[in-house]
Amino acid sequence: MDGLPCTCGGRGCWEQYASVPALIRLARERGLPADLTSPIALFEAAGQGDAAAASVLDVYAGQISVGLADRIHIFNPPAIVVGGAVSAQGEALLARIRASTSAKVMPVFREPVDVEIGAAGLGDRAGFIGAARSVLLRC
Ligand SMILES: [Zn+2]
Repeated sequence: MDGLPCTCGGRGCWEQYASVPALIRLARERGLPADLTSPIALFEAAGQGDAAAASVLDVYAGQISVGLADRIHIFNPPAIVVGGAVSAQGEALLARIRASTSAKVMPVFREPVDVEIGAAGLGDRAGFIGAARSVLLRC
């Protein structure tokens, strides 16, 4: 409610907080240097111990986890597969997402274990490959 405006015409959509543009916006809002406002540069810097870059990734993972926790509460899935560009960053982001999601999920949904959260096997190509497959199935 009253969140960031979205390209769909709504406000506060998860896309505005869990997408690559959201990650770039966070880095800019937090005053990171221009060379640290690309996702790859952010992950590299965080991996090398840059606290500001790591902080941006923590906030970003927190934003992603809000949507994941909602979905866990609604659907109670055994696993969640994270796709898109963020999934290509592997454990550097997934570990943050898992920890933040676990902290937000009601205890009954963490028993006996947390919902498994993993990266899409097709990485950041999953959307393109899925779209191509959809077209091919219609031919
Ligand atoms: Zn939207």
